[in-house]
Amino acid sequence: MRTTILLAIFAVFTANLRAQSKGDNPQANVKALISKMTLEEKVGQMTQISLEAFLKMDNGNPVEPHQLDLEKLKTAIVTYKIGSVLNVGGYAQTVENWQGIVTTIQKMALAERLKIPVLYGIDAIHGNNYTLNSVLFPQQIAQAATFNPEMVRKAAEVTAYETRASFIPWTFSPVLDLGRQPVWPRIWETFGEDPYLVAEMGKAIISGYQGKDIADKYHVAACLKHYMGYSMPLSGHDRTPAWIPERELREYFLPQFAAAVKAGAKTVMVNSGEINGLPVHADKHILTDILKGELGFKGFAVSDWQDIEYLYQRHHIAKDNKEAVMIAINAGIDMSMVPVDFTFCTDLVALVKEGKVPVSRIDDAVERILTVKYEMGLFDRPLGKAADYKNFNSPAHNQLNYAVASESIALLKNKDNFLPLKNGQKIFVTGPSANSMRALNGGWARDWQGAISNETESGKNTILEAMQHTFGKENITYAAGTTFTEATDIEAAVAQAAQSDVIVLCIGEDSYTETPGNISDLTLSAPQLELAKALSKTGKPMVFVLTEGRPRVISAIEPYATAVLHAFLSGNESGNVIADILAGKINPSAKLPYTYPRYTNALQNYYHKYTEGLAFDAAAGYDPQWAFGTGLSYTQFSYANLKISSPVIDAAQPITVTVEVKNTGKLEGKEAVLLYVSDLVASVTPEVKRLRAFEKIDLKPGEVKTVTFTLNAASLSFINRDLKRVTEPGEFKITIADQEASFNFK
Ligand code: BGC
Repeated sequence: MRTTILLAIFAVFTANLRAQSKGDNPQANVKALISKMTLEEKVGQMTQISLEAFLKMDNGNPVEPHQLDLEKLKTAIVTYKIGSVLNVGGYAQTVENWQGIVTTIQKMALAERLKIPVLYGIDAIHGNNYTLNSVLFPQQIAQAATFNPEMVRKAAEVTAYETRASFIPWTFSPVLDLGRQPVWPRIWETFGEDPYLVAEMGKAIISGYQGKDIADKYHVAACLKHYMGYSMPLSGHDRTPAWIPERELREYFLPQFAAAVKAGAKTVMVNSGEINGLPVHADKHILTDILKGELGFKGFAVSDWQDIEYLYQRHHIAKDNKEAVMIAINAGIDMSMVPVDFTFCTDLVALVKEGKVPVSRIDDAVERILTVKYEMGLFDRPLGKAADYKNFNSPAHNQLNYAVASESIALLKNKDNFLPLKNGQKIFVTGPSANSMRALNGGWARDWQGAISNETESGKNTILEAMQHTFGKENITYAAGTTFTEATDIEAAVAQAAQSDVIVLCIGEDSYTETPGNISDLTLSAPQLELAKALSKTGKPMVFVLTEGRPRVISAIEPYATAVLHAFLSGNESGNVIADILAGKINPSAKLPYTYPRYTNALQNYYHKYTEGLAFDAAAGYDPQWAFGTGLSYTQFSYANLKISSPVIDAAQPITVTVEVKNTGKLEGKEAVLLYVSDLVASVTPEVKRLRAFEKIDLKPGEVKTVTFTLNAASLSFINRDLKRVTEPGEFKITIADQEASFNFK
């Protein structure tokens, strides 16, 4: 008995100790720490510098593998007391090199007066991409196409593990921008065009990154970006003006950030662009009133790359750096991604001394930053242990990657069930992405633009290599025919195609991101169209494999395709997965998370207004190449018996919607069941429909499952002209596949 009591007392005592050191009450710890800090130390915490600023250089480029220049590092940590470091000098490093770099930085910071650990952040956006040999998952747009949040959560958990393996506790992910402007070069970094899908996937990815406790050594803090409205520049070009009325911001761009803040996301990165004439880095209403006030965000907001400086260098709303710093910090930025000098520190210290930035604002920012450092366990465990990460790039992590990619590639067309390919067919593989790891991974791979993936990922299978393994080398012939930009040898390709039974044409985009990915024509590049047209003359059946980060218009060649697979940018396993889909080893189950346009000037989303629909004006209507949610299977599904629990509902009572789904084909398959709601009459013109729920199910041949959804008043709501979320009385229609039912809200 006595031993039990003693043990219990001991357990409570040690739990308390842990609670204190781990910062279960970080507020008190943080306040105590802040009371000891000088102004310079506080401003240092608000400063984030890029690793390249303290690397040894050779001819203006970082020495590879990276080596720290300790004198430069000392200037950053000892003189300027910086609190955060980001990213790489140029190329991905080995996990061992990362561990060494982060440990050296951390030890230097811990030797300082207040022993405040540095917070290292990195763009680990589809796996820990800046660490060599880490698993490279499908990019977010491809993950969205799975319509399987659990898959997304699991992939994020592995990304978190492999990021911590590099001793880095913070990822600049997820992107919660709404992917509704298909020209924009970062559409593939998003979860697609629908706010509900983005919010659901956002919650899942955050739960994978952060787990139950970001202090544990296998999870990382998430960073929601780019708050908000970044994805909708009018021109489609990166970081150019957006014009989004506040009603629309609240209807389409804010809800996913609100959901993610509620889900506990610790940090936010700010939109680099301007909305309605004001750069978001200067917008107090968006940063302070909405984010920190209305949404109750308790974490910290980091600027995007150089964006405070850009307030004067690019946006011309400040006359110099000092004025830019004043505007941004007073608007609500807590940490500046400077990125390579210390002007931010000196200017901010001066501004506080001159009374132009209140100390209270500085204390607020520092409190937010230090709280996150406490919460992520940095004070407790600032240094990592290599031995903790034996599963880095493990077979299990790679198998998960294959499973995610298996659900991320959409079958958009399959005339007369042409696919899967029959055994023993002679297959001609062609196109500029057929033998390229770059085209499968896109940007943010082992460098920013994804330009070196062919070399770094040479151990993985391109589509061609995977086809050779799956179908036998003797059955595969190959010629590229063209690059993405130049027709190299179309004639030779046509000659080889003529000898084959089927052509697999791999087309799309080479890797890019941000401004270098700007385009002025959404149409697929001319040499690729030319190749497709030339190949069509052989009369051989053609399968298009679209490896692309945004929906490049292919209406001129689409009729030549017997089947079309949209592979997006599905990562390091996608070559294998594409081959296995073509061979029928995987039954495709992805659906489009965006509208695939037919014309370059017809870029409406599926949730367009009635006036944009076909019924109103056939010439200008919604007539995409493939609608949002398109995705075929090798089996067939039929829907029946859509039922609503009550024909009339009110705010107090949710309704239940059920529908039966049957696998009427001969193969097991997965089906994402999508529920849309249409508000028939509203005081703000309603969209023709909105996705309000979805669930992915697995059905054996002949199996029937009843899927149940719950909808409440919020699922029927919209932002009215007074900027309030309301549900107005009236008739609503529910659509699930070919099933429809109506009810009234009163
Ligand atoms: C991008 C961000 C990224 C940051 C740090 C910026 O240019 O817009 O998405 O997290 O750089 O690399």
